[in-house]
Amino acid sequence: MANFVLLKDPACYVADDWDMAGRAASRGHWLDLFEAHFAETLKLAASNLPETSAPNVARASEEFSTWMARLRRDPTALDSGRLTGMDLDRLRERVMRENELGDPYRRIKDRENALAVSLYGDLTAQLDAMSDGERWPAMVRGIFAGNRFDLGAQSIRHGSQRAPDFFESFSGLKPRPWRVDDLDALAADLQRPGRWAKAVVFVDNAGGDFVLGIVPFVRALAACGTQIVLAANEGPALNDITIAEAHDVLARLGRIDEVLAAQLTEGRIRAVSSGGRFPMIDLANVSDELNDAARDADLVILEGMGRAIESNYDAQFTVDSLHLALLKDEEIAGRIGGELYDCVCKYRPLA
Ligand code: MG
Repeated sequence: MANFVLLKDPACYVADDWDMAGRAASRGHWLDLFEAHFAETLKLAASNLPETSAPNVARASEEFSTWMARLRRDPTALDSGRLTGMDLDRLRERVMRENELGDPYRRIKDRENALAVSLYGDLTAQLDAMSDGERWPAMVRGIFAGNRFDLGAQSIRHGSQRAPDFFESFSGLKPRPWRVDDLDALAADLQRPGRWAKAVVFVDNAGGDFVLGIVPFVRALAACGTQIVLAANEGPALNDITIAEAHDVLARLGRIDEVLAAQLTEGRIRAVSSGGRFPMIDLANVSDELNDAARDADLVILEGMGRAIESNYDAQFTVDSLHLALLKDEEIAGRIGGELYDCVCKYRPLA
């Protein structure tokens, strides 16, 4: 593990600089949220594990509650002396891993991947029928919609088997101009074939986010001559897609999409492990495999609130960069002067 090779100034890089130790309201919000969410995650874990794992679940619950109570009393109690979202991610991951609780979201991710794969063919056919001028903005909207789409997954899980129309979820997006809106400059560059030789894309969730948001976008970018490196988590973190799942889903999509199949076979699109195990990404600790693949890239894309806003919002790169995220948490939205469900399309070309 090492610094990401495309970081501009690794010595000054901080993945998540929002220290809650001195921010009582922010701290209360996140400790409450992590505690409640951890309880839900343990229920899911228990439903996936054999009865014999019950003591592990109980031990994890107690350890995490003890930590939450301690951090409420003393927000500087962690070794780092700081309390950031990344610290809480790290703590949760450690408690889950040490208690061998596996991947609690595995079944949900499998189901959402299967649903999204079933919608992929129609979506790419609709996108392919559009003009260049329409297609790129539609695909950027598609990434936001995909990132939002997983919120709607709840209704699918609880009964309705009807596959929702992905384009319907576009209507739930806020109108432009967005909170940060560089879409015009981005779309103009996207329409210049050969604009980038290679792009590294840090991906977020399984299901509609990856399959209906990211894949159609990188497929179109690859068709314009850009090599694509998809960077997915090594280990499970909530409903984020892992590298093993990304490989599996891409292979399935390749069986229904000749264009993508050729891109995968020729290595124009490939997926590598970022080395990450959290819903955010620490660019001071990425895999050697990613760095080998990224060395000659000239575009970095960070997708989703955890990777693009909560961490790395101000990260600077030696190449062009694009942050794409939907703000799904009010407190995080507030950090950049936004509101819930605002879209962020922050494009920073070097020249
Ligand atoms: Mg995520």
